[in-house]
Amino acid sequence: MKQSVKFLLPGTAIMLAVLLWVSACERAEQPATTASAIDPVSFAINAERILNADSETANWLTHGRTYDEQRFSPLDAINDSNVGELGLAWYYDYPVKRGMEATPIVVDGIMFTTSAWSMVFSHDARTGELLWSHDPKVPKEWAVKLCCDVVNRGVAIWEGRIYSGTIDGRLLALDAATGDLLWEVQTTDIDKPYSITGAPRIIDGKIIIGNGGAEYGVRGYVSAYDVDDGSLVWRFHTVPGDPEKPFESAAMEMAAKTWNGEWWKLGGGGTVWDSMAYDPELDLLYIGTGNGSPWNQQIRSPGGGDNLFLSSIVALRPDTGEYVWHYQTTPGESWDYTAAQHMILADIDIDGTPRKVIMQAPKNGFFYVLDRVSGEFISGQAFVPMTWATGIDPETGRPMETANARFTDEPAFALPGPPGGHNWMPMSYSPLTGLVYIPAQQIPFVFGHDGDYAAKQGLWNTGIAAVYAGIPDDPDQQAAVLSMVKGEIIAWDPRTQKDIWRIQHDQTSNGGLLSTAGNLLFQGDAKGEFAAYTADSGDKLWSTDVQTGVVAAPVTFEVDGDQYVSIVVGWGGSIALFAGKALKDSAYGNKSRLLTFKLGGTETLPASEQQRVVLDPPVSTADAQTIALGKISYANRCMVCHGDGAVSGGVIPDLRYLPAAKHDIWDAIVRDGALASLGMAGFGDALSKEQTDAVHAYVIERANFALKKSN
Ligand code: CA
Repeated sequence: MKQSVKFLLPGTAIMLAVLLWVSACERAEQPATTASAIDPVSFAINAERILNADSETANWLTHGRTYDEQRFSPLDAINDSNVGELGLAWYYDYPVKRGMEATPIVVDGIMFTTSAWSMVFSHDARTGELLWSHDPKVPKEWAVKLCCDVVNRGVAIWEGRIYSGTIDGRLLALDAATGDLLWEVQTTDIDKPYSITGAPRIIDGKIIIGNGGAEYGVRGYVSAYDVDDGSLVWRFHTVPGDPEKPFESAAMEMAAKTWNGEWWKLGGGGTVWDSMAYDPELDLLYIGTGNGSPWNQQIRSPGGGDNLFLSSIVALRPDTGEYVWHYQTTPGESWDYTAAQHMILADIDIDGTPRKVIMQAPKNGFFYVLDRVSGEFISGQAFVPMTWATGIDPETGRPMETANARFTDEPAFALPGPPGGHNWMPMSYSPLTGLVYIPAQQIPFVFGHDGDYAAKQGLWNTGIAAVYAGIPDDPDQQAAVLSMVKGEIIAWDPRTQKDIWRIQHDQTSNGGLLSTAGNLLFQGDAKGEFAAYTADSGDKLWSTDVQTGVVAAPVTFEVDGDQYVSIVVGWGGSIALFAGKALKDSAYGNKSRLLTFKLGGTETLPASEQQRVVLDPPVSTADAQTIALGKISYANRCMVCHGDGAVSGGVIPDLRYLPAAKHDIWDAIVRDGALASLGMAGFGDALSKEQTDAVHAYVIERANFALKKSN
């Protein structure tokens, strides 16, 4: 048989290493060093310090640096005149190979961050020296209960303790000086596919934490826990439960009037999986809520309805969880258009009047400016091309949907696709330029109603017909669709709702943003470049190769008079897992690292390894009917991690490159869970033998297709 040798990027090499040398896959790459003395007084982060976080220019005390989540730093020692001298000060390799999405917290020269699999780390921020690490030992097979990789977006600090969530729904309290576990609490029903990937926020001694799982049939909520002992203070459900039972709140009674059918049996969704902000003066906590579960409203709430509080910004009292107001970005959500994306609070002049606003660029592609006192809609404009709506009615604040946007008549081509015009990657707002910087993207999708929904309830649970999803195999169609896939930085003026400039990336799923008083804007991208641009005009001034795709957002801080810029790198997240062909085989794979830069830094990264691997599949002998069954079963069960078209994004094994030894034990892996400890759960309960055989046939067909193409 002919063999094709393909020169692969490091991610593919890594994933083959995972396949071939299973036991080595999660081995630590650097030994932990012992802690130097830390003054615990340094960690006395109380309400007053976080309220005044903006004045602590040297630190990055809370997820968005300040409660308003602007992700703007007043530091300017590194600026548009000297950023060319920026060099690596230190780096640290983490013992994981999955998506890295954390925003580090920096307090008085000590850094706290997280990695994939919910691990927590503390470093000396000047040298990178590891002070401690904590592994909550999450069950690896929980990975199949996460839509979007086993990521974690960071910690919160309060009174000498670090608080962090885990993918299996626990909230941890760690000693900030030692990493010792002080308490942990299960925040979710362990029998349901909930997960925590978001960073906690802490308001006046209450840890605010949400969860994910709306791709798998859960009911969303956000909770507040007492910092001292982890006792539950309040819980706010975002969608109503069974109306036969007492409503948890008046808000749920109101929300239930906007639903139809028996949604509570399907979960409902509306998970608060990432974004929050807080206005201390108004004493309002803002939460962003997720998509419907399942996505397809025809199934979830037959007959329609707004389905509150899906895809909404909701204002709550942080002391009690009491509802104050809401604004729903996507009434009757049916496309995975979450409003769980980054929200920024700012005071800006609109038409000559100072307004307290909250701003969001959620997945649905509109940039929203709302009055954050009342929730009143001020303005909203599309920041990316969209097919589902023509605009927002300025009177009602509701989107004006296009015909068949809800794919009720026939399948509908859609922009944005489910990954959104903007996903979780943090934006940044510079009060100096008055601009919001959006890490935007474009990735199309075809939505079709799934007439076979009941069979899939409880797993990848969207109600969308998988047969239409993904990038077409036909070369012309494929080229046309791929030409639409891109990423951008958009500098957006929220006062006029217009773009001022755009930077184009040919890859989607690029990193979050940081702006500074040095007239700089920092971003890492999907192809592994970390760059600095001028914040006012978007001119690229500096860049460096970080050897892996970047999705996280950078931070900056100061220690001993030196300004540093840090970024967690490591390719992963939803698009890296499922996008497959849409990633154009061009992304780096995963190298999970923390990189810290300063002016004159002279550290260098070790050479990036590349390996030759052989595409050597068995000959495809299956008939077209089997391959078709395999394609649908694959799309329903496997695509979410292994990628559209069996093309990996470089994080998870590319099944087309399976070695013969793995083909031989296909059933043991796919049906019985032989690799569950690596995150590959067995699907013997979810798929029939006929289906897993068909998936195998489909994967072999895809590999033969790739072999033919490469010869
Ligand atoms: Ca979702």
